[in-house]
Amino acid sequence: MRLMSNIDELDNATGKSSVKVESDPGYRLRDDFERMRRALIMMVDDEPLTMNVVRTLLEDAGYQRFLLEQDSTRAIEQIKTSQPDVLLLDIMMPEVDGFQILSELRRLEEFAHLPVIVLTSSSSADSKLKALDLGATDFLAKPVDPSELALRVRNTLAAKAYQDQLAYYDGVTGLPNRKLFLDRCEWSIERAMREEFSVALLHIVFDEYQRIRESFGPQAGDQVITELSRRLDSSLRSSDVVGRVHHEVSSVGNLYCLGGSEFSVMLPSIGEGVNASLVGQRILEQVSQPIVIEGTEVLLKPSVGISTFPHDAIDATTLVSLAVSASGQAQASGGGRVQFYSSEMNEASVGRLRLESEMRRALAEQEFFMVYQPKISLDDERIVGAEALVRWKMADGSIVSPADFIPIAEESGLIVPLGSWILEAVCRQIAEWNRQGIRTHVAVNISARQFFESDLVGIIARLVEKYRVDPGQLTLEVTESLMMEDPRLVVDLLHRLKDRGFMISIDDFGTGYSSLSYLKDLPADELKIDRAFIMDVEASHEDRAMVNAIVFMAHELGLRVCAEGVENSAQLKFLRSIECDVCQGFHFSRPVTPEVLWEKLRQARGA
Ligand code: C2E
Ligand code: MG
Ligand code: MG
Repeated sequence: MRLMSNIDELDNATGKSSVKVESDPGYRLRDDFERMRRALIMMVDDEPLTMNVVRTLLEDAGYQRFLLEQDSTRAIEQIKTSQPDVLLLDIMMPEVDGFQILSELRRLEEFAHLPVIVLTSSSSADSKLKALDLGATDFLAKPVDPSELALRVRNTLAAKAYQDQLAYYDGVTGLPNRKLFLDRCEWSIERAMREEFSVALLHIVFDEYQRIRESFGPQAGDQVITELSRRLDSSLRSSDVVGRVHHEVSSVGNLYCLGGSEFSVMLPSIGEGVNASLVGQRILEQVSQPIVIEGTEVLLKPSVGISTFPHDAIDATTLVSLAVSASGQAQASGGGRVQFYSSEMNEASVGRLRLESEMRRALAEQEFFMVYQPKISLDDERIVGAEALVRWKMADGSIVSPADFIPIAEESGLIVPLGSWILEAVCRQIAEWNRQGIRTHVAVNISARQFFESDLVGIIARLVEKYRVDPGQLTLEVTESLMMEDPRLVVDLLHRLKDRGFMISIDDFGTGYSSLSYLKDLPADELKIDRAFIMDVEASHEDRAMVNAIVFMAHELGLRVCAEGVENSAQLKFLRSIECDVCQGFHFSRPVTPEVLWEKLRQARGA
């Protein structure tokens, strides 16, 4: 291998292939720094003193991870277990010398390219030549000169990073390539198996790509691929609002270019496998738009094949081949579509798409309506307000539960117009009750997308003005997962809502896996303990301990606590004993129509 003698030469060489670096002048410093921080430097030398000196010098230069091996007979074994990024190897050692280690290493396929800097006290050209023959990457003379040492290690690591870039990243798009894809795929499946989440694999192919390449030439072909990768990336980013809220792992960073016009997307923890079809649809929409090449519009027809773990297969190789075969089926039936490998998933995904379009129609045709579930004060069992919950009455009279349609409304973005409709319906209702002489308090559920994709503060402010509702009569229920998206923006929006007099409640508390530290920054008034904790409080000591701790913590933070899903008097008794403030649940009332709630309020107030 040709040695890169200085870093600038190396950068000239890398600049072309690594897409991310071009527009970012700060990359070099950051990349160097990252490489230093992460690199594991291994030394094999029979003199501990030399190793300690070298280590100290490299620490001064900014390196942090070292592995020192004095016993040369153990060197190969150590290299295999710890997989260093660079090896500093002494030549003159008893028993097994540096030459032997080097030749053994180069025989192992895995370490054929491991950078090895040979430390030699002899200035003899013979031993240098021998080391070169055996595959040494560079030399350093003992005693080592500090600045030369740092420079050699730095250059060697940069050269390795360049090799990795060539080996693992696609030269045109800069995306991780097939090799890295298969590697990560295996790793993801192993992790998914351990942590019991699911993975969907999307395989995307394009008709017409080869023909375009032949007619316009390879350079135009590369432009098309680059544009496609940009669109794929942005369609994944737009699903990511949902991704981050609902799925543990974000979808961005999981896009691979497998060569030609083949791409793959790995979506870990997508919840129900069928959700992947929504991502597939978004991809189709984005990449089906025409691309302009040399003033001519070209159209590529995409096909998306999906396989899911663990539903379709439990190993990476099979999963990949099933996704490929599904994309082949999609192409065979005309392309421009998403095809699951499994037929049940296909049916379920068709059902989902149908529900989504039904929902659009339902919104236009006013098939949604609101019900209200009373919230009860534990002190005196009086109604202190109600939570507004949406229902969908289909044309045939059947009622669809929000548990079935809210997730789809969230994934598809329909929650934004639906959410505005809900806010208006609730404001109108409060105004009507106000007119009838009963002032009550109503809580409304707000989804993450309403925060990020609409002018929530403006919308609510206009509605309370239009219906002359006191903002203090409205509580906005948000979930903890909202905080994972963009904590600073969320805190800012919540403050703006609070400044206008609205109350804020944290819904489903305890289920969002988020850190507790965010709580102190949130301008909240109330915390709602999720039903999952209340369900078993009679039987489960752990649940009692959790609920008790949550109530205590909330009170210390000056928050009111509402327990959700109270179904019997034993739960009620326990909640009262730990001074929980408010509760909500079937024990007192199911969600009811506005008329029934009005009647309950009227009776309670003796009106
Ligand atoms: P949530 O906001 O936590 O609402 C409480 C849910 O628990 C409601 O289900 C309610 O009917 C149910 N529930 C109340 N007490 C009990 C009980 O004692 N036992 C049992 N088993 N369940 C009880 P619902 O109405 O089906 O709503 C489910 C979820 O759908 C809500 O959870 C909320 O996340 C969402 N949702 C409902 N309405 C809306 C809405 O208007 N906008 C938005 N964005 N989401 C909504
Ligand atoms: Mg709620
Ligand atoms: Mg809740």
